[in-house]
Amino acid sequence: MSERAKIKDKKKESRALSRRRFLQTGTLGGGVASMAMLGGTASANETASVEWDGEVDVIVIGAGASGLPAAIAARDAGAEVLVVEHHFDVGGIAIMSGGNIAIGGGHRMQREIGQDDSPDKVYSRLTGPNDERFADAYLVRRYVDEQVETFDFLEANGVNFDRHGTEVNREGTTGVNSETQTRPHEWPVRVSVASHDRGRNGSGIVRPLELSARDKGVRFLLSHTVTDIHREEPYSGRVIGVKVEEVDRWFQGTYRTMNLRARKGVIICSGGHGHNVAFRTMFDPRLTEEYQWHGQHTAVANAVPSIAAMKVGAALGSVGNETIRGTGTAPSKGRWAVQDNYVRGHQTPESATFFRHRATGLDAAWDECILVKENGKRFWDETDSSDDFFANALIPTGVPGKLLGGGPVWAIFDQATVDRRGYGTGYPDVDRAGGYFFSGETLEELAAQIINNTYQLRHMPGDALRETVERFNSFVDSGTDEDFGRSALKYRIDTGPFYAAWSTPCLHDSYTGLRATPNCQVVDLTGNAIPGLYVAGESLGGIFEHGLGRCIVTGRIAGMECVAAG
Ligand SMILES: Cc1cc2nc3c(=O)[nH]c(=O)nc-3n(C[C@H](O)[C@H](O)[C@H](O)COP(=O)(O)OP(=O)(O)OC[C@H]3O[C@@H](n4cnc5c(N)ncnc54)[C@H](O)[C@@H]3O)c2cc1C
Repeated sequence: MSERAKIKDKKKESRALSRRRFLQTGTLGGGVASMAMLGGTASANETASVEWDGEVDVIVIGAGASGLPAAIAARDAGAEVLVVEHHFDVGGIAIMSGGNIAIGGGHRMQREIGQDDSPDKVYSRLTGPNDERFADAYLVRRYVDEQVETFDFLEANGVNFDRHGTEVNREGTTGVNSETQTRPHEWPVRVSVASHDRGRNGSGIVRPLELSARDKGVRFLLSHTVTDIHREEPYSGRVIGVKVEEVDRWFQGTYRTMNLRARKGVIICSGGHGHNVAFRTMFDPRLTEEYQWHGQHTAVANAVPSIAAMKVGAALGSVGNETIRGTGTAPSKGRWAVQDNYVRGHQTPESATFFRHRATGLDAAWDECILVKENGKRFWDETDSSDDFFANALIPTGVPGKLLGGGPVWAIFDQATVDRRGYGTGYPDVDRAGGYFFSGETLEELAAQIINNTYQLRHMPGDALRETVERFNSFVDSGTDEDFGRSALKYRIDTGPFYAAWSTPCLHDSYTGLRATPNCQVVDLTGNAIPGLYVAGESLGGIFEHGLGRCIVTGRIAGMECVAAG
């Protein structure tokens, strides 16, 4: 057999394997498995260019906060639905979320507690002249008008809301900028809550929705990623399907691919783009590779489906939202000593994805440490969390050839802090092997260790670190921080061994995404809607609102409209 024939044979084999796995996954997933769904009845014209391995009415990309409602809404409208998910489990980053949903408009629970709300009130808050000024008012109008029905939809699909959560949040005790916030009960089965940090009430949204979707016959293709979107012509005609690739448990592609046809449409619900450095630096060039993305070991947010949509003509919407100071990608200070260091949603060895996280991390003690950059120097008041802190963290330090991004930030503390806080300094608390936690008997020894980290591009000078610590200790003695005005100066750092824990800001939100009509249908660069292509959640641009409310409501709209348009 010639080399060429061998390669062809290998490809056939891998396609057959993928096809078998697709069938297996669907069957194991508990949905309605049907050979008809794999019939491949594409027109002669289409099959000429794409060899289809399967066919459904609607393909939803991503099984998180927006994908699950999209799938259920499309299924409720009578469509055969397949959800393709990169991770081996359902839930997206939503499963790690606190579950506080910004949803209002006067829904059942608000009425019960006497809360005076209406779609118009929510609309005026989301379309004002301040930070929300770049919102697409047409899209926002549809979004607010669908909130009450979406609340009913969530309850009808098994989400069990916590009345107390709604009342508490009404008093404004949480930070999300909403007319109201409504929180479900946390999912009671601990092993299927991705994070063992308690209070991950997002699990109380996604697990009931997953159950409902499966009961209704939605099928899930897990551990597969969408890499391309097929359109009839490169920039015209309908979107007719997707190319998927099987991925391993480390999120890496296996080169086993399939083409899946979507008779009615494709809905992009693949989350934000914060883990794609090239994409996020289009909006803020400072967000270079050292900044990690919350939840990056639980779900992917690499914008591949959005880029695939852009390759067939899609535009971005409300890009101004992304660069508003203090929001945009929303950097946060997070935990210590673990790569994916968002402040909540940390993992323990019992978590199904702990093998990717490698450590639980430490609860930060900002008033017991100093924060230094890769050069061993402080840069701001460690106890501050304002925009000024992040603006200064992102200033480059003079690493040759690196003109953007502030480089790693390390929390430096001593044994006395470890004892006071009860910190663990080994597995599973800190990630030493990955290069996110170091120790040394002296400050010089500690500085010399801080090199086995992907983002620390040169040795930290030991004398610089010593000078920084000695100067800080003199501020503790005098009670005045002459450099950055920090008032919390309780403890000297002088009891070896000394420690350095990764404390680089972590990114949290995507505020722009694909441009869409009020029906969540993707719009192209000429302003025309692309037939058969829909978008929801953090993949969607146009609404200036953090989190779950935006994702769930737009997911449901996209699912309904995709089927209605046929
Ligand atoms: C710790 C934490 C706490 C939070 N708390 C709150 C809160 O209390 N309130 C709030 O409103 N918001 C909160 N959020 C934010 C909220 O969870 C997100 O805004 C929301 O989940 C985004 O929904 P989504 O559907 O866009 O993305 P996701 O929920 O992340 O779902 C996207 C899915 O798409 C999959 N995917 C990506 N690319 C592909 C591909 N190419 N092929 C197949 N699948 C793909 C991903 O793996 C993922 O499963 C929190 C987030 C975190 C991490």
